[in-house]
Amino acid sequence: MSGGALAVLGWDEGRAAAFAPHADSGLVPARVTAELRGAYEIAASAGALTASLAGRLRHVAGPGELPVVGDWVAVQARPAEGSASIHAVLPRRTRVTRRAPGDHATPLQVLAANVDIVLIATSLNGDLNPRRLERYLAVAWESGARPAVLLTKADLARDPVEVAIAEAAVAEVAAGVPVLVVSALTGDGLDGLRALVGSTGTVVVLGSSGVGKSTLVNALVGEQRLATTAIREDDARGRHMTTHRQLVPLPGGGAFIDTPGLRELAPWDDGAGLWSAFADVEAYAAGCRFTDCGHDREPGCAVAVAVAAGELGADRLAGWRKLAREERHVTLEQDAVARREERRRWAIIGKAGSARAAARRGEWGR
Ligand code: GDP
Ligand code: ZN
Repeated sequence: MSGGALAVLGWDEGRAAAFAPHADSGLVPARVTAELRGAYEIAASAGALTASLAGRLRHVAGPGELPVVGDWVAVQARPAEGSASIHAVLPRRTRVTRRAPGDHATPLQVLAANVDIVLIATSLNGDLNPRRLERYLAVAWESGARPAVLLTKADLARDPVEVAIAEAAVAEVAAGVPVLVVSALTGDGLDGLRALVGSTGTVVVLGSSGVGKSTLVNALVGEQRLATTAIREDDARGRHMTTHRQLVPLPGGGAFIDTPGLRELAPWDDGAGLWSAFADVEAYAAGCRFTDCGHDREPGCAVAVAVAAGELGADRLAGWRKLAREERHVTLEQDAVARREERRRWAIIGKAGSARAAARRGEWGR
């Protein structure tokens, strides 16, 4: 891989500027293409290398700060051995996060970094679920990247009306979000998808297993890069795969990040994503008497009035409530994690400080 190989993965002047201080220490830039339990694969100018974390980085990185797929990193490269050690993670422009399922010690999980577009894939054979789409959209808006919805397996739609109905259902919960209809089987719509990625963009594909994410990446790459699962088309339920997230460079430039086996996707949110995903609910909420109205039988609730008048679907409000409830829960967790992290940092700083003080006392004692 040459220096231009990093450019097609999105390396630009801004990233070069962020990297500049590391160049002085003899490090080179690279992008994380895969991660599995602390072992990394990276793309560097020297080519693909396997990488591990430098001890110091492992020590100082807080929750959500360790490198993930899509991260730009500063590495000590050993091309002759095909290996490298990662010393620093460059500031992320975007990050796709979720609450780690069931793990309350580290509830924040960064799925992918530095993506330009979050592609929410849902198949045209029975997978479309507006409530789930809302959750994915909240995750997408929160990431800082642009969302787009991908309706897969267009060849399985019985007629154009079925596609139009699906598009309308998406538009209802994802106003203003681009919707693409594709078939990896026939190739229909792939050009539009390539255009969306552009020559340097990075796209992460989210969606239930079985919607055709891996097949799609393989179709774009033009070869069998990712393992796909055979599912029973009648119930649209896929089996779970054990493969891991990876970044796949596309032939025309740009890259795709596949996220196999995502069973749970709960937003980790500062509120911004939730707001964008429920812009219709929030628009009515502006008319509520109380600014912190829970839209749950409070007096002067404009959202309740809109639902009663049939202007806003009761299911939209139910979706909003469910996410808002999780949101409060997450905020409490985040606070607890932040406090723990603060204590940990101070413990490290304190130890370093007393070591320095002991060293000084040693010098003076001589
Ligand atoms: P993933 O879990 O989202 O990565 O899904 P896969 O890519 O493994 O695909 C799941 C199943 O759907 C496989 O049997 C694929 O052959 C099938 N599939 C994927 N894309 C299409 C498509 O465009 N049309 C049809 N008919 N089947 C597809
Ligand atoms: Zn209200």
